[in-house]
Amino acid sequence: MSPTVIRIEDAHKVYNTGEVEVHALRGVSFEVKKGEFVAVMGPSGSGKSTMMNIIGCLDRVTNGSYLLDGIDVATLSKDQLADIRNQKIGFVFQSFNLISRTSVLDNVMLPMVYAGLPVPERQRRARLALASVGLAEKERSLPNQLSGGQQQRVALARALANEPSLILADEPTGALDTRTSEEVMNIFQGLNRENGITIVLITHEPDIAAYADRIVRFRDGRICEEGGRGEELAS
Ligand code: ADP
Ligand code: MG
Repeated sequence: MSPTVIRIEDAHKVYNTGEVEVHALRGVSFEVKKGEFVAVMGPSGSGKSTMMNIIGCLDRVTNGSYLLDGIDVATLSKDQLADIRNQKIGFVFQSFNLISRTSVLDNVMLPMVYAGLPVPERQRRARLALASVGLAEKERSLPNQLSGGQQQRVALARALANEPSLILADEPTGALDTRTSEEVMNIFQGLNRENGITIVLITHEPDIAAYADRIVRFRDGRICEEGGRGEELAS
C-alpha cells in the first residue's frame, strides 16, 4: 500500500472580502497516495484552485485539517511552509508564468536560487530538466521565441528543477490547442509512470482528465463525485 501524500479532512475555506464572505470550500475531504495521478474537474468557481492553493501550502484552510506527507501543515511557520514548497512541490499554471527577457535555461534555474544550490549544480539540474521535456536545444532561447506548448514544457522543466515528489498543475493545457495539449500531457504521464511523481491536475477538459488514474469532481465547494478513469469513461 502506497503512503498517503495528501490527506485533507473536512476542509472549509472562507474568504472575507469586505462585507461578503465567500465559502469557497464547504467540507472537502480528499486523499492522494504516493504515485497517483489525479484529475480535478468541476465548473468555474467551484473551489478547485482554492483546494490546489491549500495543497501547495500557498494558503491555509479556515477549518479542517491538511496533512502533507503526514505533517499537519497548520503546525508549520511561513518559512517552514516555504521550505516544504521548495523541496516537495512543483507548480504548473495555465499562463506559464515565465520571465520574458530571460533565457529558457535561466527560467528553469530560478527556483533553485531559493533552494540555495551552487550555480554549476543549478545548471546541471536545469539542463536535465529541459532534456526531460525534450527542449535541451532551446536553453538559450527567450520564452517568446517558443510556441505555447514549448513554453509550457519550459514551465514544466522549471517545476521539475527542485526534483519535486508532487506536481500541482492548475489548468496547464487551458491555453493550448489539442495537439499541443497532448504533447504536454504525455510528459505529465511519463513523469508519473516513469519517475513516480504524484500529480494533481485541474482541468475542465474530459480528454485531459482521461490521462489521470482517478477523477474528482467539485461542485459548489464540495466534492460531488470520485471515481476511476474506467468509471468515468463508462458514464
Ligand atoms: P475554481 O478554481 O474552481 O474556478 P476558485 O477556487 O478559484 O474556483 O474559487 C472558488 C470561489 O472562491 C469563487 O467564488 C471565487 O470567486 C472565490 N475566491 C477565490 N479566491 C478568492 C480570493 N482570493 N478572495 C476572495 N474570493 C476568492
Ligand atoms: Mg481555478
